[in-house]
Amino acid sequence: MPSHLKLRASLKLIFNYIVFEVLNLPKEIKDIQHMVDLLKQGATLTELACPVCASPLFRVQGGELWCGKCEKRVIVVKEGETPEKATSQAQLLSLEGTVLMKIQTIENRIRDEENIEELQKLNTVLTSLLENLERLKKMRER
Ligand SMILES: [Zn+2]
Repeated sequence: MPSHLKLRASLKLIFNYIVFEVLNLPKEIKDIQHMVDLLKQGATLTELACPVCASPLFRVQGGELWCGKCEKRVIVVKEGETPEKATSQAQLLSLEGTVLMKIQTIENRIRDEENIEELQKLNTVLTSLLENLERLKKMRER
């Protein structure tokens, strides 16, 4: 292997080590961070769930639906326009459960975190999660 490629490979290892071991960011938090980024970019949370992973879908600028977890575009085929209400209620409940779990995770991390920058990041994520929870509750009561 040429030495510059070796160097690049080691840098990547070090980077991964810092991201996943030192900062100890589990994949879920990275997923959430990605969703937060989508919101920051002006995407809006929809009441639709991803058919693959059941995460809430985002409507990005341009009107396309996007799953932040699969990082894929989702195309909705409208047929009849009457989704099974029971299914959607169950999905919303399950989503609510997931969001609550993440809030718990973030809360634990906030408790242990002393770095101000990290705290600010965690706070941003927490705020988004709380907003999403509120939204999910409203959707379910409708
Ligand atoms: Zn998905």
